[in-house]
Amino acid sequence: MTLIVQKYGGTSVADPDRMRAVADHVAYTRQHGADVVVVVSAMGKSTDNLLKLANDVSTVHPGREMDMLLTTGERVSMSLLCMALAERGIDAMSFTGSQVGIITDTAHGKAKILEVKGDRLREALGEGHVCVVAGFQGVSTDREITTLGRGGSDTTAVALAAALDADACEIYTDVTGVFSADPRIVPQAHKLSRINFDEMLEMAGAGSKVLALRSVEFARNHNVPLHVRSSFTWEHGTWVTSEEPSMEDPIISGVVTDASEAKLTVLGVPDRPGISATLFEPLADANVNVDMIVQNTSTEGTTDISFTVPSADLKVAEEIVSRVAAEMSAAGVTRDGEIAKVSLVGAGMKTSPGIAARMFRCLAEANVNIQMISTSTIRISVVINASDLETAARSLHTEFGLDSGESYSAPLPERK
Ligand code: ADP
Ligand code: ASP
Ligand code: MG
Repeated sequence: MTLIVQKYGGTSVADPDRMRAVADHVAYTRQHGADVVVVVSAMGKSTDNLLKLANDVSTVHPGREMDMLLTTGERVSMSLLCMALAERGIDAMSFTGSQVGIITDTAHGKAKILEVKGDRLREALGEGHVCVVAGFQGVSTDREITTLGRGGSDTTAVALAAALDADACEIYTDVTGVFSADPRIVPQAHKLSRINFDEMLEMAGAGSKVLALRSVEFARNHNVPLHVRSSFTWEHGTWVTSEEPSMEDPIISGVVTDASEAKLTVLGVPDRPGISATLFEPLADANVNVDMIVQNTSTEGTTDISFTVPSADLKVAEEIVSRVAAEMSAAGVTRDGEIAKVSLVGAGMKTSPGIAARMFRCLAEANVNIQMISTSTIRISVVINASDLETAARSLHTEFGLDSGESYSAPLPERK
């Protein structure tokens, strides 16, 4: 029998009406003869609300207790969806990540999936149940409950699709697919009918949150084609597959925006071997993901080093870096939370020289100042002032011929 994994994000299950609409769609899929595994996110903004609650109660947030707290959001969704399915005569059962054997490492808050033991799901499917699984969570090799990082329900869905050898993995969200830019920021963005794993990986890595980075890594490593589509319009969305781009594809597939990072600068660092290692090793040990790094040329034996980290890790990173900077007699540490990153992604870059120059000229003409630059073979990223984000993204989108000619017209639900 065909097996379909469907993942519904937070806005797709945000309130009782949305939950019922999702139940209708799952019931429809089931009644048309497929086995269905559903992965659900927490309703609407519940994960943010739980985080806020933790901040209101305490300044101390042990990873184990945070994960206990955050995993409750998805448990609410899974049980409510099963109730809505029961009302439609569908025999559904809910499961936590730990119940279905999603085994992770021990990194609370950003755990990596090590193994998926799918037997409990296979058994339930065999008995004719629709299985509804709480996304974003697993159980560690230390038998503790863990979470997979923000947006982690995508990863749960892809991991289950790979483990169960599903025929399709559908990611339902609040936009109609993967676009050439975030349609909330660039209304002229156009829907991509398909995109390959490498480009999607670069887009996710550059901070596009339409798919969590780990979910794309998993999909590529296990060759699970993804269909990203809307639970508001149910129209066909974007296929993410291993298919190589063809000659007719545009050089640039998309413009990616990311306002979730902050910049730290260590001033007056002694310019000698080993300094960068001394600075970045403790950040790696604390599991802080350093993104862009720029080191200035040295004047009079000292240099400045700037780098970006997720804003969520800024406090921890600043504490570590301030300590290390004092130990190495650096002049000081400054931080800037008002930055944004804009990236161009396109497989065609490999064979088309001059894209970076054209990007920088376009930003100059839009009066956008570039603070940092980094590149891969199919991506160019710049860090700019947060207030320039929209101008930069829209100018680049137009410059590289990506405008659709009309504004995004499907409903763009407000994030409750
Ligand atoms: P979900 O809760 O369904 O997982 P997310 O908020 O994680 O939804 O991801 C969907 C959002 O991703 C969209 O509402 C859109 O604003 C944003 N987004 C960013 N980049 C893109 C892109 N290139 N294409 C489509 N959506 C994008
Ligand atoms: N609820 C989690 C989050 O808000 C996981 C997810 O939605 O994918 O990040
Ligand atoms: Mg998401």
